[in-house]
Amino acid sequence: MTNDVIVIGSGIGGLVTATQLAAKGAKVLVLERYLIPGSSAGYFERQGYRFDVGASMIFGLGQNGTTNLLTRALSAVNVSQEAIADPVQIHYHLPQGLDLKVDRVYEKFLQNLIAHFPHEEQGIRRFYDECQKVFKCLNSMDLLSLEEPRYLLRVFFQHPLACLGLAKYLPQNAGDVARRYIKDLQLLKFIDMECYCWSVVPSDMTPMINAGMVFSDRHYGGVNYPKGGVGQIAQKLVEGLEKAGGKIQYQARVTKILTERGKAVGVQLANGKVYRGKRIISNATRWDTFERLLPVEEMPRNEKKWQQNYQKSPSFLSLHIGVKESVLPAGTECHHILLEDWQKMTAAEGTVFVSIPTLLDPDLAPNGYHIIHAFTPHWIDDWQKLSPSEYEAKKEEAAWRIIDRLEKIFPGLNAALDYLEVGTPRTHRRFLGREDGTYGPIPRRKLRGLLSMPFNRTAIPGLYCVGDSTFPGQGLNAVAFSGFACAHRIAVDLGL
Ligand SMILES: Cc1cc2nc3c(=O)[nH]c(=O)nc-3n(C[C@H](O)[C@H](O)[C@H](O)COP(=O)(O)OP(=O)(O)OC[C@H]3O[C@@H](n4cnc5c(N)ncnc54)[C@H](O)[C@@H]3O)c2cc1C
Repeated sequence: MTNDVIVIGSGIGGLVTATQLAAKGAKVLVLERYLIPGSSAGYFERQGYRFDVGASMIFGLGQNGTTNLLTRALSAVNVSQEAIADPVQIHYHLPQGLDLKVDRVYEKFLQNLIAHFPHEEQGIRRFYDECQKVFKCLNSMDLLSLEEPRYLLRVFFQHPLACLGLAKYLPQNAGDVARRYIKDLQLLKFIDMECYCWSVVPSDMTPMINAGMVFSDRHYGGVNYPKGGVGQIAQKLVEGLEKAGGKIQYQARVTKILTERGKAVGVQLANGKVYRGKRIISNATRWDTFERLLPVEEMPRNEKKWQQNYQKSPSFLSLHIGVKESVLPAGTECHHILLEDWQKMTAAEGTVFVSIPTLLDPDLAPNGYHIIHAFTPHWIDDWQKLSPSEYEAKKEEAAWRIIDRLEKIFPGLNAALDYLEVGTPRTHRRFLGREDGTYGPIPRRKLRGLLSMPFNRTAIPGLYCVGDSTFPGQGLNAVAFSGFACAHRIAVDLGL
């Protein structure tokens, strides 16, 4: 029997689409190449530790407003996730002694930053207050498909000022807004880092809509850690999907999207099995979708244009570490960012991101131990064409370089190590199924905000994309947004 929808991939974007549609009564089949759902928001277990694969700074698990999309996606299929509030979003360890904590309380964060840049108090307040304006617009309306005219009309009549506000910010980048108010070069570098740490580009290339969301929601819904680890979110979504009558198959690698007379009608798996669906949704990256699952020579013109505007961001070198708890001083924060030289912010091994989720959920590690996940950008090209022994040696050298740097914030780390596993861009490519292990698309040059980021429909009738290759980009709450929008558009198309 033909499915209403087939979703290729069970990342958070794919699962939110699938659960939303199943909740509306659609017959949904999710095909996932790996053994468990979640991908970059997944987990793995070793020697009593439960490590997050990637994401651990989680937005969207709040209780209020309309931007708490993970909470909403879970409750739509009658499941829920306990969330542990993180009191500090990030502890920055930056060049020139810029040591700063982003407190959950907005005014406290502003005070911390103003203490470093007292001469810029007014500029700091104006910039972050402008981000709050963007957020207030977003947080006042249901976030659904911008490709659905009746929805657009409805929200416009319900919230005309918020809509006009968002339309104004859509083509803007955060750096331009920051420079309107701020002159201090080091402070502008800090704003670059505030953007880079989730958009992986400096503020000039970071859309204002995304910046407004992140810089404000951290003080509203806040950053919350899912009890049991980040992998729980995907597991719960799958539980909800199945309760709502949807199906998921693991180890089901799609190798082809099947088309008839130019329309997507089904998929073929690596084992030759064919599934047909009225609508096909790809949660794979755009590069995987249009270069691997469809004939590259038939790539639609707008996809070629998209590739001229966006490129693959680097992947990461990831250290999954187990340490004795004695190495972490009392009061250590869960998330840290380390950079010693502003010139190296975007370079391979420049910025180091650190998460210590066991400070919020101790059950993820054996008693008396913590997890430290440290990762830093790396490009796949540096990890190709190596013999197995060269690959292992290169991993080891890189890991010790990072551990040496982390010693500055956690003295004694090396001696306190209990477990160490290193992942490279190759690991990300293999286990996350993402071309070159990329974190996601980034602008090739300065673009007009989010204007050129595609929504969910594609040039191929019947085929939709969801996830971080679509509006509004990377991050769990962002891909959940994309999932809500995709499901909404398809529900209208299918008359559900
Ligand atoms: C190291 C790291 C740290 C991060 N930190 C954070 C953070 O702190 N906070 C945050 O919000 N975000 C973070 N992110 C980003 C976030 O994890 C991603 O943006 C998000 O999870 C992407 O979700 P997605 O739905 O787009 O797709 P993905 O997670 O890429 O999922 C796609 C799924 O499709 C499957 N698939 C692909 N091709 C096929 C095929 N041919 N057949 C079948 N299945 C297929 C894959 O196996 C995968 O399960 C981080 C990412 C990384 C890598």
